[in-house]
Amino acid sequence: MAQGGSGSTSGLMVSVSGIRGRVGDALTPEVVSRYAAAFGAWSVAQGGSRAVVVGRDSRVSGAMFHHIVVGTLQLVGCDVIDIGMTTTPGCQLAVEHHHAAGGLMLSASHNPIEWNALKLIGSSGLFLEASEGLAMRELLETGIPYATWDHIGEVRSDADVASRHIEAVLAIPYVDVDAIRARRFKVALDCVRGAGATIMPALLERLGCEVVGMNMEPDGRFPREPEPIPDNLREFERFVASSGADIGFAVDPDVDRLALVSEEGRAVGEDYTLALAARLVLRHRTGPIVTNLSTSLLIDDVAREAGVEAVRAPVGEVNVAVRMRELNAPIGGEGNGGVILPEVHLGRDAPIGAALVLQLLVEEARPLSEIVASLPRYVIVKDKLNRPDASLDTVYSALRAAFSDAVVDTQDGLRLSWSDRWVHVRPSGTEPIVRVIAEGPDEGAARELVRRSREPLDALRS
Ligand code: MG
Repeated sequence: MAQGGSGSTSGLMVSVSGIRGRVGDALTPEVVSRYAAAFGAWSVAQGGSRAVVVGRDSRVSGAMFHHIVVGTLQLVGCDVIDIGMTTTPGCQLAVEHHHAAGGLMLSASHNPIEWNALKLIGSSGLFLEASEGLAMRELLETGIPYATWDHIGEVRSDADVASRHIEAVLAIPYVDVDAIRARRFKVALDCVRGAGATIMPALLERLGCEVVGMNMEPDGRFPREPEPIPDNLREFERFVASSGADIGFAVDPDVDRLALVSEEGRAVGEDYTLALAARLVLRHRTGPIVTNLSTSLLIDDVAREAGVEAVRAPVGEVNVAVRMRELNAPIGGEGNGGVILPEVHLGRDAPIGAALVLQLLVEEARPLSEIVASLPRYVIVKDKLNRPDASLDTVYSALRAAFSDAVVDTQDGLRLSWSDRWVHVRPSGTEPIVRVIAEGPDEGAARELVRRSREPLDALRS
């Protein structure tokens, strides 16, 4: 078992805020039903609403699991608000809108086509925190209190999630809709046949953009690896360049991550999405930027430029969101293209990211490639190893001794940092592996940090 009660049993990845597995392998109807029942029963036991929002992305297995989840929730006495095919931020917003007890989103995010997952959202619209996830899972052990025939919940649908989401984005005070419309941007869009088609084209059209899309059919038949990292966007890069677009937006299947392609047809790297969104927001708001311990130093540069602090939370969207709420941060998120803007809600949201980046293009009045070139460039190198049986404490001690001049952060594994580089060693929450991630001013520096950090890990494993 990994830390925090998370781990993998027979291929099922269990984390504090949900479960994930290969469809028909670890992810069976029985498993999905058990977790949905436990989540529904726990949610209504919190004493507020009996309503639970249910949404899904476009995955081929989504509609089938959707039926199972809706029926199961009814039999633990939940009133289901069925929002159909949607985005993860849309599901989070719907929980808040309906003052629901929680939300259940069927989406394995950026994972390959054979995966699906339950993502569990609390009544606040945030993913479950560790303590909530543990309390919810206790019901799996103690027994799920099913309803009798006369207490079966009702089902109603809500088809307005995307339109409310769009209005919320357009209402961000410093998104100048008229100014963006006046630019008549040509925008290329790649939704990887995920749920992005349910909101992104409509939002961009409201912003006066001419949209040229690829992979817009929301049928879940991903034509490539769905994670919006540069290696997976080569065809989209060519599409952006050949279409003469001002910018390219690529979203992941559940639309909480946004990657940018410049007008030159180059994927600029997903770290730049949050950096550029933060640069824009901090012209209009002040306060710290919150991100996680594995996010690029670009955020520190943007924070310095704005005269604010960059604060790092443990990896995991909810950890960033909770720290943002504590610090009243105006902007935060993750270096993987996940932008969180608390003025709308505390969840990663690609539609918000797209609007903020278009506003930045208006304000800077120069192409994306030039804006990106004005920021420093770092290189991140990622490695993973099988998790050793022994405790990682000896590894952390050895690394602290070997890098005695570093700033130490022990919130989540061990992160050692210097002014222009860092290395983060942490056990995965969902897989029996240890991740080693380093960033430096060039690839050699980052590789060297990974190499030296592996030494005590390799010694422990041999
Ligand atoms: Mg996602």
